[in-house]
Order: sequence, then structure tokens, then C-alpha cells
Amino acid sequence: MATSRPFNFSAGPAVLPIPVLEEAQRDLVSLPNVGMSVLEISHRSKTFEGILAQTEADLRTLGNVPANYKVLFLQGGASLQFSMVPLNLLGAGQSADYIVTGGWSQKAVKEAKRVGTVNIAGNTENENFGRIPRQDELTLDANAAYVHFTTNNTLFGTQWKAEPATANVPLVADTSSDMFSRPIDIAKYGLIYAGAQKNLGPSGVTLVIIREDLLARSAKSLHTMLNYSVHAENGSMYNTPPCFGIYLMGLVMKWAIGEGGLAAIGARNQRKAEKLYAEIDRTGFYKGTAAADSRSAMNITFRLPNEDLEKTFVKESTAAGLDGLKGHRSVGGMRASIYNAFPEAGVEALVEFMREFERKNG
Ligand SMILES: *Cc1c(COP(=O)(O)O)cnc(C)c1O
Repeated sequence: MATSRPFNFSAGPAVLPIPVLEEAQRDLVSLPNVGMSVLEISHRSKTFEGILAQTEADLRTLGNVPANYKVLFLQGGASLQFSMVPLNLLGAGQSADYIVTGGWSQKAVKEAKRVGTVNIAGNTENENFGRIPRQDELTLDANAAYVHFTTNNTLFGTQWKAEPATANVPLVADTSSDMFSRPIDIAKYGLIYAGAQKNLGPSGVTLVIIREDLLARSAKSLHTMLNYSVHAENGSMYNTPPCFGIYLMGLVMKWAIGEGGLAAIGARNQRKAEKLYAEIDRTGFYKGTAAADSRSAMNITFRLPNEDLEKTFVKESTAAGLDGLKGHRSVGGMRASIYNAFPEAGVEALVEFMREFERKNG
């Protein structure tokens, strides 16, 4: 199966582990001992309740999620969380701190402003989001309802190496493109959210991990489906959940545990990224767009000497079985997204392709 597939560098939806796809395929028509597809059974059935419970249990094991956090499986993508976070956590008369490090942070700000007061506590836009701000550049408000930041900037190829220090103000993070790509101390966060389609599973399911005390902030007047405490009280089953997405996320969690957990996955991701950055830095033909101390291990952005060569690079790499390397238009150039399930052999193939391309065109 693997030999007929290109190496998939897509930013998202993105590559999934082959054993996960194969298990889903094997059991698609008939789940073992059930005889029906996971796509067909009631979400209120014992079988699906078991799948949901096991997915949550494995996710808690993988992420070492403390007992005082709820795990929610929602819909609407990370983009709906841009609204749900302020609707639930930003009370009347309060303000929230937002650290802006890319296009996704900007979209989060846009929705929060519809709800209440937003303080831009940091912003690297005037450097085209090429780096993560330092702690001493942040203007944090000790009375803020929360601090929102984006752990990994999918478009610009930057990633926080450590969480910003926010004292007692709850930290809220959009972790869509690096969730469970390295060890994470959930206890440092008030709320974490991630669209699943980069590191966790297919699109259509959104993971939310929320500290229980914050559920008290959700106003009763909120629309039911936008209320975290309703989803928590109903175990993500207030309405029909994204059953297939949860099932597949469960398989990905099992796979990740089997790979050795987050320490092993983080070490492998680091190794993959270092190989690629080493090639980018080797001669100066390629230029990384992110500052050295802010480089992402998930989305690796680089440019070539001119746009004509970039077009040729996209065309020839695609033909060589390296799919999805064209960068986002806000940065230009190339972007190699190498999430958890992206194989090390694919990084090696890209490095080899880059060397040969430089030899021919450098
Ligand atoms: C992909 C992405 C999103 C958007 O996710 P949707 O699930 O499509 O809404 C938001 N934030 C980050 C950091 C992303 O990478």
C-alpha cells in the first residue's frame, strides 16, 4: 500500500498513519463482533459509547491529562473555537489578552472582538510573523479573563518552544497544528483546542480540553450548542457527535501510544525537522523564512532564489512523488508539513530531492 502513495506534505487535512487507515478499512463494513459499520450505528449504542470512552481514555493516557480537565469532542473546527472561547470565557466588562503570531491568531482576534474587549498582548506582524515574541515583549494584563495564543503557526512555520508565562491568568491555546507532537503539560493550560485534521485524525472533529473550574463561566443564556458546560455535562453527546472522526481519532491515539508516546514522538519529530533545516541551511541556496529560535518542527517554510525556481521546484517535486510542498500565499515559497504520521523516509526523500535540485539549478 505505502509504495503506491506519494509522500504527503499537506498542511491539513494531512497524512494519517498507515496502520490506522488499514484498520479503518478492514473494519469499515463490519466492526468486529458488531457486524455493522461504525458509520451506521447509533451514537447511543453500547458499541459507540465504548468507542468514545476508549478514545477519551487513550487520549488521557497519551497526553497525561489531569483528572480535573474535561475532554470534549466537538464540531465546527478550530474556527468555531475562535467564537466559543470568548463566548464562554470572556465575561461582561472583562478583557482578554491575545498574542498574535499569524493568520490563525488574527482570525481568533476577529471573533473575540465581536464578544468583548481584546488587548493585543504581542504581535509580530510587522516582521511578517517570522518569529515568536519574547516574554519581555508581551504586554499582559494581570486582570485579563484569559491569554490566547497559537502554539504552532501553520502558515508561517513558527512554533512556541515554551508557553508564555501568564501567572494566574488562564492560558488558552489553539494547538491545531502541533497537538500531541511533543510532550505537553496540560496543567499549564486553562483550555486547549485543536481541529483534528493535522495531528489527531480526520477533519470534522475538534478536540477541546478544558479545566473544570472554567466551565462555571459559561452563561446559561448562551446558545446550547455553543456552551462548553452543556457539552461537558453530556459527555460530548448533547447531539450526534462526529462518530467516525472520534473512532478514527481513537485509532490514532492507540497508534501514538504504541509508538512510545509523546516523548518518543517528540524526539522523532525533532530529528525529522533538524534533518530538513540542516539541508535548508547547508549552502544558502534555500532560505528558511522563520527566525532560527522560532522554527516549527511541524511546518517547515523555505524559499528559493526566485519565484521561477519555486514554480519549477513545486512541479518537479510533485512529479517525484513529494506532494503538497507549495507554500501558503502569505509566505510564498515552500512549506513541508511533517506531522506525527509523516514518515522519516519522506524527509530523507525531500532532502535528497533538494540536493539534486540545487545541483541542477544552483
Ligand atoms: C488549520 C488551523 C486552523 C483551522 O482549523 P479548522 O478546523 O479548519 O477550523 C486553526 N488554527 C490553526 C493553528 C490551524 O493550523
